Amino acid sequence: MLTGKTALVTGSTSGIGLGIAQALAAQGANIVLNGFGETEGPIAAVRQAAGQRAIQVEYHGADMSKADEIAAMMAFAAERFGRVDILVNNAGIQHVAPVQDFPVEKWDAILAINLSSAFHTTRLALPAMQQANWGRIINVASVHGLVGSAQKSAYVAAKHGIVGLTKVTALENATTGVTCNAICPGWVLTPLVQKQVDAKAAEHSISNAEATKLLLGEKEPSMQFTTPEELGGLAVFFCSPAANNVRGVAWNMDGGWAAQ
Ligand code: NAD
Repeated sequence: MLTGKTALVTGSTSGIGLGIAQALAAQGANIVLNGFGETEGPIAAVRQAAGQRAIQVEYHGADMSKADEIAAMMAFAAERFGRVDILVNNAGIQHVAPVQDFPVEKWDAILAINLSSAFHTTRLALPAMQQANWGRIINVASVHGLVGSAQKSAYVAAKHGIVGLTKVTALENATTGVTCNAICPGWVLTPLVQKQVDAKAAEHSISNAEATKLLLGEKEPSMQFTTPEELGGLAVFFCSPAANNVRGVAWNMDGGWAAQ
C-alpha cells in the first residue's frame, strides 16, 4: 500500500517509534530511522518487518532538542529520497516531579523534544508534501494530550501542545491531500514506562508484577498495555485512502483511560 513512499519516524530506535516504523515498512514504505542508542538492531527489525518488499532503510542521529540537527536530518531525507511523504513525530522523554520542584532544564528538554521538534520537522516537511498534494503527518501525543496527571507538568503541557499543533496543521492543509492527526496512547510497556514501573516497585517495596498492576489499575480500565504493534496499525490506517478525510483528530488507544 505504501510502496514508493518514504516515512521518517523520530525516536524510532526503541518502543513505539520502532513499532510504527516496522508497521509502515510492512506496507512497503522506505524508512528513515532516528533516535539514540544502538542502531543495527532497529535497522534489522525494520528490514525484517518489510519481508520480501525491497525497501530502503536509512538512519539519522539528529538530536530532537536541536533545531539545526533536525534541519540536517530533514535535508538528509530529502536528498536521499526526494521528500518525506509520511512524517511521524514520536520522539519523547518523561520526567516526574511536582511543579515547584520540577527541574528547569528538564522542563526545557521535554518541551523541546516532545513538542518543538514536531514544529520543526513539520515546517520543513510540509512544502514538498503540499507540492505533491499528498502527505501524512502523524503526531504521537498521549492520553496526556487530553487529560492531566499529577507530577507530569512538562509532559502534559507538551502533549496538549502537540494536539493543538495537530489541529492547526490539519486545518491549514484541509483542502489538500496532506493530513495531520495525533495518536494518544495510554500505557505502553516501553523503556519510558518501565522506568515508572521500577520507581513504583521501589517506592512501595513490591514486585515488578505488583507494580505493573498498580500502575495499570490507577488509570487504565482495560488493565492491559497498548502495544507498539497496535499503534502501528493505527498509523497505517492514517496513511490509507480510507483516512483521506480524517483531519485533526486526537485518537486515543488507551484502554478506556480518557473515557472515565
Ligand atoms: P522510548 O523511551 O522507548 O523511546 C523513545 C525514543 O525517542 C527512543 O528511540 C529514543 O532514542 C528517542 N529519543 C529520546 N530523546 C531523543 C532526542 N533528544 N533526539 C532524538 N531521539 C530521542 O519511549 P516510547 O514509550 O516508545 O515513547 C515514544 C513516544 O510515545 C513519546 O513521544 C512518548 O511520550 C509517547 N507515549 C508513550 C507512552 C507509553 O506508555 N510508553 C504513552 C503515551 C505516549
